[in-house]
Amino acid sequence: MKIKIWGCRGSLTTPGKETLRYGGNTTCVEVRMRDGRVIILDAGSGLMNLGKALVAGQDLTLQMLLTHAHWDHLCGFPFFAPAYLKQCQITLCGGPAAQQSLERYFKHQMEPPFFPVPFEGLQARLDFGCRCDHPCAGKLIAERGGPGCRSVRLNHPDGGYGFKLEEDGKSFVFLPDNELRFHHANCPEFSEQVDFCRGADLLFHDAQYTEADYQRTRGWGHSTYGDALRLATTARVKRLGLFHHDPARTDDDLDRQIESCRRQLREAGSTVDCFACAEEMVIEL
Ligand SMILES: [Zn+2]
Ligand SMILES: [Zn+2]
Repeated sequence: MKIKIWGCRGSLTTPGKETLRYGGNTTCVEVRMRDGRVIILDAGSGLMNLGKALVAGQDLTLQMLLTHAHWDHLCGFPFFAPAYLKQCQITLCGGPAAQQSLERYFKHQMEPPFFPVPFEGLQARLDFGCRCDHPCAGKLIAERGGPGCRSVRLNHPDGGYGFKLEEDGKSFVFLPDNELRFHHANCPEFSEQVDFCRGADLLFHDAQYTEADYQRTRGWGHSTYGDALRLATTARVKRLGLFHHDPARTDDDLDRQIESCRRQLREAGSTVDCFACAEEMVIEL
């Protein structure tokens, strides 16, 4: 599978000269499977640029997996050009608990006075019909004879789901918003997430905060750099992409953080290959 990052900024779209290298768009990742199928992970502001590329390539049969409904993960959808084309078909899937509410959230963000074009103005065939209860996305994708997909609950305010995509014996785990050091209501234990990530070839994980940030942001739903390292090393993943960069983090800040993470891994004798996710980065598994 081929993974391309269109947005990896957390919480708020952050344009400007200090975020050019890692990018300022919020969460959106494209995964292209061997058979050409396009799976979109989240609809943050990065979705707009992905939409332009999909229209140019006439890739208009799409699957979209949504981790949760926080605005930084939905705000790109009203600007997603394929959604305005009659020939486009999008199957949308959230977690089991989100499935019924997903359509409501998409409609709500386009209601007056939030947006000038009503949801009904979209021309694409939008299928919110995924009613599988466990594991949410697995049924959607596996039924079509393709690669596997499994979901795990996020540890995040109001819940949500992370996903694991598997093909040709390779696995990619996506946990963009996940607080590893705090237990939110009805959310999983650390051990459940370790089991889910175990041996993954690639993990994109929330690394929004420094330890100093976390003194005042505990319970806000995000992890520190150290927390992400702990999950990656405990689960023995091969590569860790730090994701959901804080809007206040500049490119230079991120360079320093990644250097510190690599030093910690070296000192611990870990073989995890750690890097900071960046917009337009492409990884093939
Ligand atoms: Zn987020
Ligand atoms: Zn969130």
